[in-house]
Amino acid sequence: MFCSQCGKKLADFEKFCTRCGHVVDKYGGFWKRFFAWLLDSVLINSGFFILGGIIGEIVVFLSSSSFESQAPAKAMVEGLKPFLLVIEVVLYWLYYTVFESSSKQATLGKLALGIKVTDIEGNRLSFGRATGRHFSKFLSVILLGFGFIMIAFTEKKQGLHDIIAGCLVINC
Ligand SMILES: [Zn+2]
Repeated sequence: MFCSQCGKKLADFEKFCTRCGHVVDKYGGFWKRFFAWLLDSVLINSGFFILGGIIGEIVVFLSSSSFESQAPAKAMVEGLKPFLLVIEVVLYWLYYTVFESSSKQATLGKLALGIKVTDIEGNRLSFGRATGRHFSKFLSVILLGFGFIMIAFTEKKQGLHDIIAGCLVINC
C-alpha cells in the first residue's frame, strides 16, 4: 500500500500518510466499483454480441447449404439456446476469475478505475477463491442487489460476496 499522493510506503494500519498528510482511502468505494462493473459488462456483452453473430452466420451457412427453407436454421438456433446460456455463464466466470486471480488482480474495468481485489491479508487471490467470490455474487443478486449496496456502508466496503469469499477491493 502506497500513498496515492507522494508514493510513500504505508503500513496497513496507517489512516493517513506520515510524510504528506494525505488521508488514505484504502478501500475501493461503491461508485468506483459500479463504474468498473459497467465497463466490464459493456466489454463482455460486446464480446457476446460478436460471438452470437458469428455463431448465427455459421448456423445459417450450414443449414442453407443442406435445406431449402429457413425453418431448420431457426429450429437449430432455438435448440442451441440452452447451450449458449452455458457458454455465457462459463465465459463470465472465466473473465472475472482469470483476471482477478492474475498478477493484475483486476478485470479490465477495475484496472481502468484503479482498483484491485485481494484476500483479507492483502494477497493475490487463488483461482479457487476468485471462483468462490464470483459465484457468491448470485446471492447478492438474489437479495435484490442488497449484497452490492452493502459496499456503500460496510466498514471495509465489502459486498456480501466479498465477505463470503474473504475478499477486499482496494485502491491501487
Ligand atoms: Zn503521502
